Amino acid sequence: MNLHLPDSPLAGLLRERNARGRLLIVDDHPVSLKLAELTFEPHFEVITADNGRRALALCQQQAPDLVLLDIDMPDMDGFEVCRRLKSNEATHDIPVIFLTAQTDEAQETRGLGLFAVDFIAKPLNAALALARVNTHLMVKLRADAIRKLVFLDGLSGIYNRRFFDQQLVVEMARSVRNGLPLALILLDVDFFKLFNDHYGHQAGDDCLREIAAALKASLRRPADLVTRYGGEEFACILPETDFSGAMSIARLLEDKVRKKFIPHARSEVDSVVTISLGVAVRSGLIPHQATELLATADEQLYHAKHTGRGRACGRLMSAPAPS
Ligand code: GH3
Ligand code: MG
Ligand code: MG
Repeated sequence: MNLHLPDSPLAGLLRERNARGRLLIVDDHPVSLKLAELTFEPHFEVITADNGRRALALCQQQAPDLVLLDIDMPDMDGFEVCRRLKSNEATHDIPVIFLTAQTDEAQETRGLGLFAVDFIAKPLNAALALARVNTHLMVKLRADAIRKLVFLDGLSGIYNRRFFDQQLVVEMARSVRNGLPLALILLDVDFFKLFNDHYGHQAGDDCLREIAAALKASLRRPADLVTRYGGEEFACILPETDFSGAMSIARLLEDKVRKKFIPHARSEVDSVVTISLGVAVRSGLIPHQATELLATADEQLYHAKHTGRGRACGRLMSAPAPS
């Protein structure tokens, strides 16, 4: 199989990711499951499930690169498992290949309609099954690499401005729809130009990486998002967070960064690196645009910068003035 050639495209992609491809095989029939496991185990990391519910749980917990899914299973059949995987944001990018004992056109049409990528006939022909899995895995890993390029910041590894812009609109629409509050925090490193001048640009980059990691580790709710907004600025979106909650998170972030104790000999705030934060919160009751939230957070950040730095300022947004 060309997977073993060190210069094959799939081998290259796996090397880049520093991991073997992870396959989830789902089959209620123990012998079929074992047979498939033996076929793929020499080439991939294989995890198995003998029913649909377990398969869904494993997809959530272990994020396999590809699922080989039996159609005929009691309780929840493969079609239903596929439908649920594809309707969940956390799992909809995992390619599904159906394993089927009898291929008929109606079944294939139904499976492809559920966005499965392929079918493999049982009993497995090892060489053919491996070839199909290789191809689909390669497409999946390429898509992952592109997603990473598009939405992750190369320096810090957290989400980038492009992702932030997209999520702010999504979360604003959700907040307007469900009437729950939404908070935005913009933050900026204090006297960072002087930090670069004093310690060098490389140390500046390391400092930004440390700050990104500290911010990320401080936000606990799964829906909270921290992004690199640009340069030495970061932005956090906190759904369903009211004004007092957002202010205490902003103060926590300020404290966590200060307590990284990154020396800053030229700062006028402290002997270590500090950040200033601007917080904007919409209550959920009043209609707003994403741009208004951004402008308010920016204005509050400006306020924090001009009242001493190393602090958080915030505002609960009121209704826009009638035009
Ligand atoms: P203030 O407290 O008012 O924010 O002062 P400041 O010096 O942080 O603000 P200013 O906007 O004057 O300078 C920002 C500096 O951040 C200048 C720029 O060289 C540096 N910077 C922006 N992006 C990067 C980066 O990716 N790496 C490094 N090392 N420095 C960066
Ligand atoms: Mg700045
Ligand atoms: Mg700055």
